[in-house]
Amino acid sequence: MSFDDLASELAVRKQQSLYRHRRTLETPQDPIVQVDGREYLAFCSNDYLGLANHPDVIRSFQKAANQYGVGGGASHLVNGHSKAHHDLEEALAEFTGRPRALLFSTGYMANLGAVNALLDKRDAVFEDRLNHASLLDAGLLSGARFQRYLHNDAESLESRLCKTEARRKLVVTDGVFSMDGDVADLLSISAECAKHDAWLMVDDAHGFGCLGHQGGGCAEHFAMKEDQIQVLIGTLGKGFGTAGAFVAGTEELIETLIQHARTYIYTTSMPPAVAAATLTSLKLLREETWRRDKLEALINQFRKGCESLGLELMDSPTPIQPIMVGESDKAIQISKGLEKEGIFISAIRPPTVPKGSARLRVTLSAAHSEAQVERLLSALEKVAC
Ligand SMILES: *Cc1c(COP(=O)(O)O)cnc(C)c1O
Repeated sequence: MSFDDLASELAVRKQQSLYRHRRTLETPQDPIVQVDGREYLAFCSNDYLGLANHPDVIRSFQKAANQYGVGGGASHLVNGHSKAHHDLEEALAEFTGRPRALLFSTGYMANLGAVNALLDKRDAVFEDRLNHASLLDAGLLSGARFQRYLHNDAESLESRLCKTEARRKLVVTDGVFSMDGDVADLLSISAECAKHDAWLMVDDAHGFGCLGHQGGGCAEHFAMKEDQIQVLIGTLGKGFGTAGAFVAGTEELIETLIQHARTYIYTTSMPPAVAAATLTSLKLLREETWRRDKLEALINQFRKGCESLGLELMDSPTPIQPIMVGESDKAIQISKGLEKEGIFISAIRPPTVPKGSARLRVTLSAAHSEAQVERLLSALEKVAC
């Protein structure tokens, strides 16, 4: 057996309009970016609050690099756990109102680590069918009995929960769904968990910074403590504008992760300067509530504009505002048309989203202006209508 079929597999993928290309970004994340030598107005980053290129965040990063150097140098359990990491963990625990928080190097690793530290083949895991790939992978890798329930459907979850005799039951959901932008019905889901003695894990990668008065995400929005969301995941590469992730919960949960989460134990700690920069971005995310007000205004403006153009949006109150297209080739065609107008939005295709639901994943940021959203709407009128 050889690998001769790689080329033909790639050719098929191209034919199906599913081939993925990387573009080279030559500037920081900002509304105006330079990509492959050309300037665009971009609506596709997850830098929802405009913090990835914030001068205070950059300054903290530089100062900490002078103090700690660049590399973490070792895993947290050897000697890579710096004071910068420790201070950020304490600040995140306080921010989320949880007893403890634990840093991971990426959200993908936080999800793999948490699920696999808690579950094995004696257990059962229940996942929303539209969960992020890292959550689905985490559940499959754990060896627990893996079941998906219908999207955001507490009844569908209940019908599965009542049939299981597993030792531990873990229900796992995105807080804000990454490709649709809708918010999980966490109060109903958590009520089912309580009824069936299951734990709830919420990955709020896209909720932090966007939802809740202080940007505390779904947990703040629904006022849910660690007795309702036992495992709370936040990622730092989106609204926080930096990199990495955290898990927040009880003392026992965090100590269990330190003992057993393989993606925590067997990897180098994130650069301490990233932790120091995140401490500053956390302060901005929390205190500068105008960023959320601005986002809300832009979301309303965009939704009203699309409605009058007759474009199909999803039921999303968040900065993730996908325009549903359907077929992959059509999504690519619109994305290319927008590029000609100087607007950068990537087409999201299967397998990232279900077949036949290719879309343009428009994301808004507090750094966008009203005039820039207007420019997007005019380009959409020209290209997509
Ligand atoms: C982006 C994302 C992740 C992965 O986080 P990284 O820090 O980028 O690895 C996990 N979960 C969800 C829901 C995400 O959108």
